[in-house]
Amino acid sequence: AREEGFDLEDVEGAIEEAGHGPLPVLAVVGRPNVGKSTLVNRFIGRREAVVEDTPGVTRDRVTYDAEWSGRRFKVVDTGGWEQDVLGIDASVAAQAEYAIEAADAVVFVVDATVGATDTDEAVVRLLRKAGKPVVLCANKVDGPSGESDAAMLWSLGLGEPHPVSALHGRGTGDMLDAVLEVLPDAPRESFGGQGGGPRRVALIGRPNVGKSSLLNKVAREERVVVDALAGTTRDPVDEIIELGGKTWRFVDTAGIRKRVHLQQGADYYASLRTAAAVEKAEVAVVLLDAADSISVQDQRIITMAVDAGRALVLAYNKWDTLDEERRYYLEREIESELGQVAWAPRVNVSARTGRHMEKLVPAIETALAGWETRVPTGRLNAFLGELVASHPHPVRGGKQPRILFGTQAGTKPPRFVLFASGFIEHGYRRYIERRLREEFGFEGTPIHVSVRVRE
Ligand code: GDP
Ligand code: GDP
Repeated sequence: AREEGFDLEDVEGAIEEAGHGPLPVLAVVGRPNVGKSTLVNRFIGRREAVVEDTPGVTRDRVTYDAEWSGRRFKVVDTGGWEQDVLGIDASVAAQAEYAIEAADAVVFVVDATVGATDTDEAVVRLLRKAGKPVVLCANKVDGPSGESDAAMLWSLGLGEPHPVSALHGRGTGDMLDAVLEVLPDAPRESFGGQGGGPRRVALIGRPNVGKSSLLNKVAREERVVVDALAGTTRDPVDEIIELGGKTWRFVDTAGIRKRVHLQQGADYYASLRTAAAVEKAEVAVVLLDAADSISVQDQRIITMAVDAGRALVLAYNKWDTLDEERRYYLEREIESELGQVAWAPRVNVSARTGRHMEKLVPAIETALAGWETRVPTGRLNAFLGELVASHPHPVRGGKQPRILFGTQAGTKPPRFVLFASGFIEHGYRRYIERRLREEFGFEGTPIHVSVRVRE
């Protein structure tokens, strides 16, 4: 590293930063208009400006990356939804429930200028039941005169209310310090793997693609072990299913089974639920309706899994309904619409007839193997050397930036850090990613490549 002009400490720092494991999740909950979205914007600051673009995919984000005092975490925003037919209490409760489920810690936002309402009390009951660490945010305390309003919120029984003005930034730093004190370093359950309990699968997809049918099929055909598994703290919303001779944990299945049909805000709940399931899972099985066109919603769900860095399997359901013509058009559609996840293993199944159910497990295992792949540094650098020699970066302004060396900083999913002598263009990065896949496989997993440039 030193001969190439990189400080050894910088290199180590870059590797550590890129190689982080799964991040803990913070949920921000509360009634509408208390300032949740404003607060989340404070948390994420300018980081959002640097998210990588995925062309052709619309984002419908509810989770964001945040960083405070050098620690990284994810934030689930429950703003951006509307009160629906259930009425205010039920809808606040429903969104809070999903968000809390996904979270390792919670910021509960109350409007200090209004004080605690019945709806706030209802959320407090949920928070008690969930037993996760909570930081109470007394928002809209824009100046010292509001501090006494904040103090009134001791009555909620959630400990110290932190007076904050999300709008002006007042008190947010102190509150974030308090958040970091209760937020664990890693998600509540570290990922399974060898000897670490059943692997966690999220079965996701838009309404009516056949999620509950598929779940019933696999749960019926294979023996369902209710709670016999020693040493696993099982969420009641998860289901332990034996499949292909192995035990799997299908996460958040209650959401699939419960089938709350909401009108307004239904899409939002669906997004939140999907995000919660994805956060908890190692591998996402995205179910698509093969009889139907691939929709924007399908794309969003796939993007959620990819952005979260989970292994991915695409399962085309309702294969029993396909005629030859539809099959032809489906293949064309997949090529044009899902090209960015061409690396995901694919199975064509029917929850109705049971067709190809036995292919689901091998696909999941392939994706998990790709997700955990580690490329030895020697092999990686031999590959990079050849790549740079056979396909150098284009010359820009009389200079030719070069990839000098690289290392894999982490797995689950594979993360690489490359060290370069100058700015590496987007197109060349894409090329490297493509070649990495050609060389090392990475079937069923997103990969991350970050580039450090020598000062
Ligand atoms: P959400 O529905 O909980 O996500 O609330 P928003 O973040 O959309 O905020 C609702 C309204 O409250 C907006 O008009 C914000 O500008 C305002 N607001 C949010 N935080 C503060 C604050 O700290 N002080 C004041 N005065 N207004 C705020
Ligand atoms: P979910 O909303 O994703 O849980 O979807 P459901 O499991 O409720 O299925 C929606 C509809 O599709 C129901 O009428 C199912 O009977 C039907 N369905 C599910 N899987 C299949 C399949 O493989 N073939 C056919 N023909 N219909 C299916």
